[in-house]
Amino acid sequence: MDNYNFETEAIRTQNERTQFDEHSTPLYLTSSFVFDDAEDMRASFAEEKEKNLYSRFSNPNTTEFVDKVVKMEGAESGYAFATGMAAIFSTFAALLDSGDHIVSSRSVFGSSHTLFTKYFPKWNIETSYFDVNKVEQIESLIKSNTKILFAESPTNPAVDILDLEVLGKIAKKHNLLLVIDNCFATPYLQQPIKYGADIVVHSATKLMDGQGRVLGGVAVGKSDLIREIYLFSRNTGPAMSPFNAWILSKSLETLAIRVDRHCENAIKIATLLEENPKINWVKYPFLKSHPQYETAKKQMKMGGNIIAFEVKGGIDAGRKFLDKIKMCSLSANLGDTRTIVTHPASTTHSKLTVGDRLEVGITDGLVRISIGLENPDDVLEDLLQAL
Ligand SMILES: *Cc1c(COP(=O)(O)O)cnc(C)c1O
Repeated sequence: MDNYNFETEAIRTQNERTQFDEHSTPLYLTSSFVFDDAEDMRASFAEEKEKNLYSRFSNPNTTEFVDKVVKMEGAESGYAFATGMAAIFSTFAALLDSGDHIVSSRSVFGSSHTLFTKYFPKWNIETSYFDVNKVEQIESLIKSNTKILFAESPTNPAVDILDLEVLGKIAKKHNLLLVIDNCFATPYLQQPIKYGADIVVHSATKLMDGQGRVLGGVAVGKSDLIREIYLFSRNTGPAMSPFNAWILSKSLETLAIRVDRHCENAIKIATLLEENPKINWVKYPFLKSHPQYETAKKQMKMGGNIIAFEVKGGIDAGRKFLDKIKMCSLSANLGDTRTIVTHPASTTHSKLTVGDRLEVGITDGLVRISIGLENPDDVLEDLLQAL
């Protein structure tokens, strides 16, 4: 098969045409598939031929979506899930045994953290955490039963950057599987497999769809590992629906141009916010003031669409800022066409102590903005009037 550039693969990776010669891939709302005869059925179940059997295992729409993500990430194969959390849970559940150990960045998505602290201990799987700014801690946390090194970069909501090259080297040296949640960057901005990631997981709900419509998840990486993840998933049932796969495959066609514009808008807004006297600091990977600016420049094409900043005046100022917002949305999602503003200390992270919040970089006045595709002047005007 020909290999094209990123944008072309996102558009031209497509299922074969049916007898109707359609230009755009149709939606296959079918739960199962039929066989010609007993031999066809036997050979299909024996996996002697590549054929869809049942949509919990595979479906033409999920296959097309996965094929695109595989190409975009430079992976070998993949599997599509109903949500990002289904992808993350299934990856760990398929690759770990009771008694294994995980080393994870402390700054991971809230539900990933809950998996590690609340559910995996039930199966005797323990997790140790390193601070995002102290990757030198990682090696001291590795034990004889450590199997997976897990991280996301940029992190949520503090937009810290982890050096993927360093993580890749540590994983290789200690024979660990490196699993990266690449949700905030998307494969357009950053491809962790280049740095040695074995599996890349995504919440396709965010920038991959980019229009706030459907939930989805995907795991891509080395074929032998994906095979384990696939077998686990075809038996436990976290599969993506064909409808969502059809939407998401269309969404990927415009990923590059959307993310380009998201990033252009974000750096413009971040630069202007940095000058505002009501703000203590602004954190955005491609601002020179970002503590890991050099690493961000090394591994990312652009800075992404998430900006964190701290309003002066702590938790009350953060809440007041949200109350004054007129146009931008107050919502838990991110990576939408619509700009979304959140205040983690009073919402998503309110149950943590101040000390625990500070460990993951969440100060009381921290505001997270997911910059959308509106005209950035309008977004900026809304933010400035609220300040
Ligand atoms: C949203 C998100 C997830 C979870 O994805 P869902 O599709 O909501 O299940 C995982 N990781 C990161 C970084 C996310 O932002």
